[in-house]
Amino acid sequence: MPSKRYLMTPGPTPVPPAVAAAMARPLVHHRTAEFRAVLARALARLREVYRTDAEVVLFTSSGTGGMESAVANLCERGDRVVCVSAGNFGERWITLAHAYGCDVVPVRYEWGETPAADDVAAALADAGGAKAVFLTHSETSTGVVADVGEIAARVAGSGALVVVDAISSLGAVPLETDAWGLDVVVAGSQKALMTPPGLATVSVSEAALAAANDAATARFYFDWERVLKAQREDRPATPFTPAITLVYGLDAALEILLAEGLDAAFDRHVRLGRACRAGAKAMGLELFSPDDDRSVVVTAIRMPGEVDGVAVIRAVSERHGITLEGGRGALAGKIVRIGHIGYVDVFDVTAALTALEQVLADLGTDVERGVAAAAALEAFGGEAVRV
Ligand SMILES: *Cc1c(COP(=O)(O)O)cnc(C)c1O
Repeated sequence: MPSKRYLMTPGPTPVPPAVAAAMARPLVHHRTAEFRAVLARALARLREVYRTDAEVVLFTSSGTGGMESAVANLCERGDRVVCVSAGNFGERWITLAHAYGCDVVPVRYEWGETPAADDVAAALADAGGAKAVFLTHSETSTGVVADVGEIAARVAGSGALVVVDAISSLGAVPLETDAWGLDVVVAGSQKALMTPPGLATVSVSEAALAAANDAATARFYFDWERVLKAQREDRPATPFTPAITLVYGLDAALEILLAEGLDAAFDRHVRLGRACRAGAKAMGLELFSPDDDRSVVVTAIRMPGEVDGVAVIRAVSERHGITLEGGRGALAGKIVRIGHIGYVDVFDVTAALTALEQVLADLGTDVERGVAAAAALEAFGGEAVRV
């Protein structure tokens, strides 16, 4: 019998059975009325999740393709852009913007720090005439969630477009595309959207679309206007063959998310974050990610003493069938990250914590056995929320 496994990483995340079932149906052709209706519904549901009236562009690509589309559509060679980076994914904006020949003004923080609106406003004023500000909502490598609403409010009026990587936050953390004035918001199917990897979604404001139409840049597959032209047809289509199966999955996943209710989902994620942090602290471990209710996507835990996080993750996987993630870059081996977004309930979190507790105790570290789950359930509070 294949062993049961838990996928407790901040992407990919577990897929609900109804989503898997939607993807298991016989394949349909993408130029049929049937597929077009599902695409139209998925796009409408996406706009609800994004809280936007703007158009949302769908790409068959990983999330990074959606990020690349923002740079490719907006930035001509030599354009000045501000990129805020406090971790692996902020660095990706900088690398991407450099690849397209932008004049990049980086606003860099130590990994684990939280970007401040004042710093971004100051960098923007210094830069003078920046075309766009690139932000990361949830920096998945550190567990920090930035206050994108506050930062965007400080960028407003500068003439710069606000571009947000919300790949690991959309659907888990409150995000108001229109109310916060976010011009471009990128998400990916495999994080809080509970679908396998392979789709990127990008909301594009009228200002961003106008800027893209004015920008003479080389782009084809990732050209927003080309995709939108097809999506705007009476019965929406895609310009190229999409990952048809994944669109069915995404549509089913968004139905589940909207049935739970966005605010209820945000609340569940706050409580899952509380549970995970409380469990880690109860067994005597130190948090790397912030110990606050904004940190709902992933909990990053420091490994005690000389304990090698890579070995811990391997043991948790081999002995307990639970997949956790390690640190990136300089944090490799130093932290263990437990993801808790999407199709996750508090018992998934207690399972991950208990496995970590057992492995660390067996390694001879002085973690206390048997306390993490109790503390996590206590911090989760109230009734168990089923997903
Ligand atoms: C996962 C993730 C990405 C990258 O997405 P891919 O689908 O791997 O290309 C980018 N940014 C953040 C914040 C992420 O969590």
